Amino acid sequence: MIEKRQFYIDGRWVDPARANDFDVIDPSTEEPCAVISLGDRADTDAAVAAACAAFPGWSFAAKQERLVLLKKLYDVYKARAEDMAQAITAEMGAPIDMSREQQVGAGLWHIKNFLRAYETFDHVRPLGPHAPTDRIIYEPIGVVGMITPWNWPMNQVTLKVIPALAVGCTCVLKPSEIAPLSSLLFAEFVDQAGFPKGVFNLVNGDGPGVGTQLSRHPDVEMISFTGSTRAGALISKNAADTFKRVSLELGGKGANIIFDDADEKAVKRGTLHVFNNTGQSCNAPTRMLVQRGRYDAAVETAREVAEKMAVGNAHDAGRHMGPVVSETQYAKIQDLIQTGIDEGARLVAGGTGRPEGFNRGYFVRPTVFADVSNDMTIAREEIFGPVLSILPFETEDEAIAIANDTPYGLTNYVQSTDDARRVRLARRLNAGMIEMNGQSRGAGSPFGGVKASGNGREGGVWGIEEFCEVKAVSGWAAE
Ligand code: NAD
Repeated sequence: MIEKRQFYIDGRWVDPARANDFDVIDPSTEEPCAVISLGDRADTDAAVAAACAAFPGWSFAAKQERLVLLKKLYDVYKARAEDMAQAITAEMGAPIDMSREQQVGAGLWHIKNFLRAYETFDHVRPLGPHAPTDRIIYEPIGVVGMITPWNWPMNQVTLKVIPALAVGCTCVLKPSEIAPLSSLLFAEFVDQAGFPKGVFNLVNGDGPGVGTQLSRHPDVEMISFTGSTRAGALISKNAADTFKRVSLELGGKGANIIFDDADEKAVKRGTLHVFNNTGQSCNAPTRMLVQRGRYDAAVETAREVAEKMAVGNAHDAGRHMGPVVSETQYAKIQDLIQTGIDEGARLVAGGTGRPEGFNRGYFVRPTVFADVSNDMTIAREEIFGPVLSILPFETEDEAIAIANDTPYGLTNYVQSTDDARRVRLARRLNAGMIEMNGQSRGAGSPFGGVKASGNGREGGVWGIEEFCEVKAVSGWAAE
């Protein structure tokens, strides 16, 4: 069994202040695959102190110096991609091929895109010709506490660490205690790349412990959080007394509106998207709204896709769906599937219990409900499992009303060949992101939501500015 009890603080691997072992469970086997330690206040304080001490040097280092180290980090990450894929598969159950391509690939993609965006990022900008000696300075905000979830571990970590370090912030990362192995490996990469001590620190821990300590810490200027809406609200409250900036990337309940004139593959594409990563994506299009003319055929297609979806051990090669991350998630998903049945939705594929042939591992049946109404629990709550709800609609206005009737507002999807309609929908849907006709958003496009989906924007220039404080200066030297 892997033993990874140490934390990365001030450029060194250090023992926890107090022993507090915690098993990392492989969701394919339900067996522990590693043991870590959960940190204590003394560990949090030591990491924050190291980040504070490193801040003046790092924030005033030349931009080029920081860029060189981040490029080295990219090279190390790339060279050790296979180690990373194995860690993610063991800790959270993404099938190994999917880990290599999507989970590890997402991290590489973000590092590369941030490097490109930061090359042309100006820290000092003129206000305008009317005020020739005014400047607006984008300064690093300071020490950032980063709290990340288990579902796309390297996606989340790189979306925070790379832009923060690029602009000159220092940080303390607290990854999910359920999936800490990938972040421990990432800390090794940072060490190998040769960053100055204290710039990047990692302390493992849980929400009530290290997560809360970081949120309340007087020397932490900002919390960048990705995770549940529940924890996002708690963090905001805990951060209020110290006036921290709090950037939140929370849950979602995406609507995928499929009009009668949608392309032929729209339903299959949407269903597969829900099952990707075993349904554990905040931007999953879990409410499929289908116009009446296509409704019966859509239900049939979704059923076929679900029934054909292979489920298997995450360590096996292939395009199957892996387990969900934990016993808690498994139980929550089972409860919600049962609630869907009890509230009268029509179960067309899957259902409760493990798929045939499995008696161990947190495997869930790819599930499709039809005739769902938007007030049912399965249409309102984020299930975070491979469960699709299909809802019928008649008119464009009705579809917009259903899509917007949710506490969330992360990503909505539109499928229609009518250009004018897509433009109307893009404006009227209440969400941080709208993806249409299966086209994913381009490199450097900001990821984030509104309402209960949070307030942060990650990626591209917006994701860099998140970690900056804006300083207004007049009387700057005339050029
Ligand atoms: P979670 O909120 O339980 O945990 C996320 C992180 O927060 C973990 O590191 C956890 O230890 C920590 N945490 C928990 N309670 C805390 C508290 N009170 N104070 C400080 N830290 C605390 O979420 P999860 O189950 O790990 O992740 C799944 C959730 O993340 C889903 O709701 C999903 O939609 C969301 N998510 C959102 C995005 C996005 O960008 N919008 C991306 C991925 C996941």
